Amino acid sequence: MTGYWLREFGRLSLILVTSLLVGASLGRHGEFLVVGLLIFLGWHLLKLHHFARWLIHGYEPEAGFSENIWSELYYQVYKLRDRGRKRERKLRNLVERYRQSAAAFPDAALVLRRDNSIEWMNEAAATLLGLNLVRDIGQRVDNMVRQPDFVQYLQSGEYVEPLTLMSPIDNAATMQIYIVPYGDNQRLMIARDITKLHRLEVMRRDFIANVSHELSTPLTVISGYLESLVGKSRKPEQLDQALRQMQQQTERMRNLVNDLLQISRLEMNEIQDDEADVNVPAMLHGLLADARMLGGERRHEIVLEVEEPVWLHGVNQYLYSAFANLVRNAVQYTPGGGRIVIRWYADPVGAYFSVEDTGIGIPPHLIPRLTERFYRVDAGRSRSVGGTGLGLSIVKHVLRNHQAVLEVKSAPGQGSTFLCRFPPSRVVRKPGEAEMRLVK
Ligand code: ADP
Repeated sequence: MTGYWLREFGRLSLILVTSLLVGASLGRHGEFLVVGLLIFLGWHLLKLHHFARWLIHGYEPEAGFSENIWSELYYQVYKLRDRGRKRERKLRNLVERYRQSAAAFPDAALVLRRDNSIEWMNEAAATLLGLNLVRDIGQRVDNMVRQPDFVQYLQSGEYVEPLTLMSPIDNAATMQIYIVPYGDNQRLMIARDITKLHRLEVMRRDFIANVSHELSTPLTVISGYLESLVGKSRKPEQLDQALRQMQQQTERMRNLVNDLLQISRLEMNEIQDDEADVNVPAMLHGLLADARMLGGERRHEIVLEVEEPVWLHGVNQYLYSAFANLVRNAVQYTPGGGRIVIRWYADPVGAYFSVEDTGIGIPPHLIPRLTERFYRVDAGRSRSVGGTGLGLSIVKHVLRNHQAVLEVKSAPGQGSTFLCRFPPSRVVRKPGEAEMRLVK
């Protein structure tokens, strides 16, 4: 038992013994015992009253209290309060340090409430977005930055990809906006000036587009002449062979240039104007015939399963290119006798184009790299089948422009499945067509 409890019991015992002794000497020990206990209780009640006044109203306790249970309680509460104050000071310093570092952040940072109003922003937000550090706190950010793309992005709730936007205060500047949800429906919005990066990107894109464009005409002329020379006139066998090789290589270069041009156009997103309802089933029947021709002597079993009424809103030429690339790859990378299944179907959450083959497959760790430009699992094999290494890059860009995604499943030696998922907003249903068709 601790000291102050012992002292408290000592005090109680002293009162009890004294009242008993005095009561016994006067022959009224019962009454004196009650009086003694009442004095003891009264003293504690008074102390409790002081203690409560101090805790609730902050009145200072009387100075120089003696060593008892109450002085111990005062001491413990003092200690707790002191510890709390120190912790609060530490936290305040920490918050201040965070605030200072966020304020010195070169990117614009804003904390948004559930209703899109601004709870806090740093100085860069004021300079980059043209906001007022004092006046605009509490205002809705979509009233301040009014570009429709931004408003739509903010309301979409889908913040996986950042948004690239023209600066609201400088037409020549480009910004990238990131939104990170956190806590109780709050969001952190970061806006970064990417003007220089954007210019470089545009330069790179233009350079590739221009080079490809410039190469396209000379290559067409060369390949035209080569075509007219090969096998036509009488020439030594060696020259004829050289001409054939030149023709093959020129053809490869033309394919490469065409693929690069296509990627450039897709990157510039020049597709909106050409969008229409695309008859995907009809396209796939055509692709099936091409795939059989390409397979030639290798005798693949190629099957097409299509949901006939399902069409897609998009750009015919690009969708054809993406689907043709996937089918061509399946044929090229599946040994003779293998099976290839092409499917087109829809459900309430979208439409799906898939190509499944029993071909050579791809090691799983290389799958994320397939859509990189010029990436090939086996460069020699790809070249020997006339691949440019750009096919899946084209597929990725076409899908991105149609808000679709590519999923790849593959196992070496067992085969691959390439699946394109289109969002429901792209799906068009044409009633009246037969439901499902299977072509073998
Ligand atoms: P390429 O012109 O070389 O076919 P792609 O971009 O179309 O270029 O494909 C990239 C690489 O992915 C190919 O070189 C090949 O290694 C691999 N690949 C693509 N499709 C398949 C498939 N169906 N089966 C196995 N490997 C594939």
